[in-house]
This record gives sequence, C-alpha cells and structure tokens, in this order.
Amino acid sequence: MTQPPAQETAAHQHPALAATDPELAALVTAEERLQADTLRLIPSENYVSTAVLEASGTVLQNKYSEGYPGRRYYEGQQNIDPVERLAVARAKALFGTDHANVQPYSGSPANLAAYLAFAEPGDTVMGMALPMGGHLTHGWGVSATGKWFRGVQYAVRQDTGLVDFDAVRELALKERPKLIFCGGTALPRTIDFAAFAEIARESGAVLVADIAHIAGLIAGGAHPSPVPHADVISTTTHKTLRGPRGAMLLAREEHAKAIDKAVFPGLQGGPHNQTTAAIAVALHEAAQPSFRSYAHAVVANAKALADALLARGFDLVSGGTDNHLVLMDLTPKDVPGKVAAKALDRAGIVVNYNTVPYDPRKPFDPSGVRIGTPSLTSRGLGTEHMAAVADWIDRGVRAAGSGDEDALLKIRGEVAELMAAFPAPGLPTA
Ligand SMILES: *Cc1c(COP(=O)(O)O)cnc(C)c1O
Repeated sequence: MTQPPAQETAAHQHPALAATDPELAALVTAEERLQADTLRLIPSENYVSTAVLEASGTVLQNKYSEGYPGRRYYEGQQNIDPVERLAVARAKALFGTDHANVQPYSGSPANLAAYLAFAEPGDTVMGMALPMGGHLTHGWGVSATGKWFRGVQYAVRQDTGLVDFDAVRELALKERPKLIFCGGTALPRTIDFAAFAEIARESGAVLVADIAHIAGLIAGGAHPSPVPHADVISTTTHKTLRGPRGAMLLAREEHAKAIDKAVFPGLQGGPHNQTTAAIAVALHEAAQPSFRSYAHAVVANAKALADALLARGFDLVSGGTDNHLVLMDLTPKDVPGKVAAKALDRAGIVVNYNTVPYDPRKPFDPSGVRIGTPSLTSRGLGTEHMAAVADWIDRGVRAAGSGDEDALLKIRGEVAELMAAFPAPGLPTA
C-alpha cells in the first residue's frame, strides 16, 4: 500500500493548518499514520474519540475563567460555567463522589494540590517507591514532592510482587505521614483500597488514591472503586478513562473546600476550558453501557496477553495481571528492557522500558518492559488476537537479542496489516 505524501494528506485532513504551517501539518499527519499503523501497547495511552478531539479543539480555548462556576474573576462566563458544571456533575455521578474538581492541568499538578491541601513543606508523606511502580509525585526524591516534603517509601515484596501491608502499616505507624498515596504506574494487580484506608486511619494520615492508570476500569466496573475508602482521589483523564490530557480530584464533602482552594488559587491560574469540555464529553462516553464493555474487554485482553506471554516463557512481575497492564522482566531472556523496547518500536510495536521491582539495572537501562491493552482494545482487538500479539513480542525480543533487523521488519508488516483492519477512533480513515 503506497500512501500519498504527508503534505497532500494534511492539506485534505487539516486544510487551515496545512495552509498556515505546512511543516507542522505534515508532522500531525505523520503522527496520525504512526498511530494508525502501529500496535500501541503503552498502558498509559489510548485513542480518544472524535467527539473528545473536537471538544479539545474548540474556541473554549480562547477564554480566561479563573475561579469556579458562579464565582469567577472574569466576565463572559455564560457558556463556560455550564460547561464546567456539566463536567463536575458527570464526574460526581460516574464515580459516586460528593465533590469533583476538574481543573487540574494534569495528574502531577493534581497530586501537588493534594499536598497543598493537607500538608506543610517538610511534612512526612508516604507513597510507593518509583522503581517499585509508584509515581514520581508520591514523594520520590527528584520530584518537588520529594524535595519539599519528607518522602518515605514503601515497596512490593520481592517474592510475590505484591504490596506487603504489614510493612506498610509498620512504616506508617513509625513515620506518621500526613498523606499516604496508593496507586502507581506499573502495578499489574488490584489495589486494596480498604487495606490502605485502615492503615491511614490508624496512623492519622489522609489517604490519596491515585487512580490515574485505572480510572476507566473503575468507571466501567472492572476494578473496585476507592470511593468508600479514600479521603481524596486523584486521576488523570487521558489514560484508561479515554479523555483529553487533564486531571480531576474527587473527594468527600468535608475535603471539598480544601481541594478547591489548593487547585485555585493555590496552584493554578485559569482552567483550560477546552479540556474541561473534552473531559465532560469523555465522562459522558464513560457513562454508557459500551464503556463498561470496553473496561472489561481491556482486562480480558490483558489477562489473555499475560497468559500467552507466560506460555512463551516470559517472566511477569506478580505472575500475571488483574488489570490493563503487564510488566515483563526480561532478565531470563537476557535482553535489556531498553534494547527490547527499541527493537519492538522498529517492529511497529510501541512499548516502554521500565524498572521491575528490585531491578539490579539502572532506571535508564532497566530489566523490564511495560505493556498494556487500553489502546488496542479501543480499536476493537479481542482476546482472540492476543496470541498473535504475544507472538510478535516474543519474536521481536528474540530479534532484539540476535540483532535480526529483517525479522523486525517482517513483524512490522504483519502488525500494519492487522491494524489496518481495526481503524482507530479519532483518526482519519483515508
Ligand atoms: C500518569 C500518572 C500521573 C501523572 O500524570 P501526568 O498527567 O503525566 O502529570 C500521576 N500518578 C500516576 C499514578 C500516574 O500513572
């Protein structure tokens, strides 16, 4: 299949952009093709719908709206207030919370707002260590959250890959953190929010459930909800929730004022209204029965993919998955994670290299590769396709080890052929 030059396609798909800035338009078109042709396995990514994309690209972007609906510092909010109220009402309804703030610019600032609301600089905060699967913003040293606060970090057990709640409790009772974060970026197993809540209660900490990765699974009923357990819930909107790049903070009524004050004026100026609108659209989509099916299909695909990888001799952290994500430890394959990830990229399979718990290698050159099923499920791939996906990964990792570029090119062709049969949401079809 030969495609017309990117410039020609751009002129057709994005005429105004192509006329003003052909160089940039051609890059957008090239990215559309890359997202169409490749098998995207990065677990924090997805394909948003055309409706979400349209909302993100509206003139709502032209407005300043510091404050909250009905309490703005700018006039002209006749349409912006209802947009934000809609997003807030939908967030509260979908997750079943008393309060929602949809203004955080992204997941990291949303977490910072939780610090601002409940802790003072220098206070002790607790989260899972980054190399164990936690997030930078849970008090890791290089992050502002680890520089301005005293971060103490918990781990997963080396033998099981699971959180050791006795150790978490012991650490919490010894350190008495103001905040405890649960959740992370490379956790293939169900998070026991109730167990974390009990420890937070015993130690007098505020529990923040960071559900950035799994918000869509929770919304779709494919992962237990933190709502009965956590004081505050922080989430991005662009991962499994399949919305625009943005974030939300959800909380019980008692914390509503503190959260709102922390986001604005504590941390941010004007909200990104076009993002708020797109969040509202994504929440509407996530409330449909089809999204419940999607969330369950994401998990079914990940389990099928994990099984197919185990059958091919791969070592998976925790032995498998309960959610959308699989963390492969490539140590037994004798291929470093980065070498594998770069080879798979050349084979049209997009993954990221990742540390595994107790990784003997350096974070910039770790032992693992992290993969997930949110994007491929959005394209309609099902469990019947996971053997082929595992096979490509297996062949790709072998080819990475032996430096067989021809094998990678062959996989790339096979991947593109399958993906052509499953058009991606939001992408031009021709
Ligand atoms: C992705 C993620 C974040 C940060 O989100 P950004 O939008 O990239 O700032 C925070 N916490 C967790 C657990 C995440 O997975």
